Amino acid sequence: MKLVFATHNAHKLREVQQLLPSEIELLSLDDIGCTEEIPETGETLEANAKLKADFVTKKYGLPCFSDDTGLLIDALGGAPGVYSARYAGPQKNAKDNMAKVLSELNDNDQRTAHFKTVVHLNFKGESFVFDGIVNGSIVQVAQGTNGFGYDPIFRPDGYDTTFGELSDATKNSISHRGKAIRKLASFFKNSDL
Ligand code: IMP
Repeated sequence: MKLVFATHNAHKLREVQQLLPSEIELLSLDDIGCTEEIPETGETLEANAKLKADFVTKKYGLPCFSDDTGLLIDALGGAPGVYSARYAGPQKNAKDNMAKVLSELNDNDQRTAHFKTVVHLNFKGESFVFDGIVNGSIVQVAQGTNGFGYDPIFRPDGYDTTFGELSDATKNSISHRGKAIRKLASFFKNSDL
């Protein structure tokens, strides 16, 4: 069965393909010739994930899932949340985004935060939503160079290192995206494809 993952990111695609049953042939947006930026105009992660999956299913008539992730910091009222990619501006720069978070938290002791991923799946005329959360806190100074985005400033609960200091495999085993994708994989393992 062909299944579209609404992403242009080849790295994400490979990672997810490994978790899904082998009867599923995962296709990226580039694989189906969708080169346009799908507008992410929703005000929640759920709304944006749905927008992306619905765009593909309506335009290409294919089963599709999409993911949308945000970092939610309690002391900042849940920011950057749905605006995580462009928190410090449309250039979507990870260093600028981290600098803005650190400067807004300043020396605040209340630094709890969580990452949340929402996966929206359109399959056989129905919609399904899966999510994954990892709790942790924002460190004072960025540490580590692994991963991407806010990884160097996020320390997951139960660890004394940031995501930026963990291997991909360790991060995937506890991360928001890992949890949401494993729920998607277990849905397919229990479905008639
Ligand atoms: P996306 O929905 O996966 O594109 O994620 C939106 C934004 O959230 C990214 O541009 C990153 O800034 C941030 N983000 C998502 N996942 C992670 C992660 O695993 N680690 C650090 N930052 C992340």
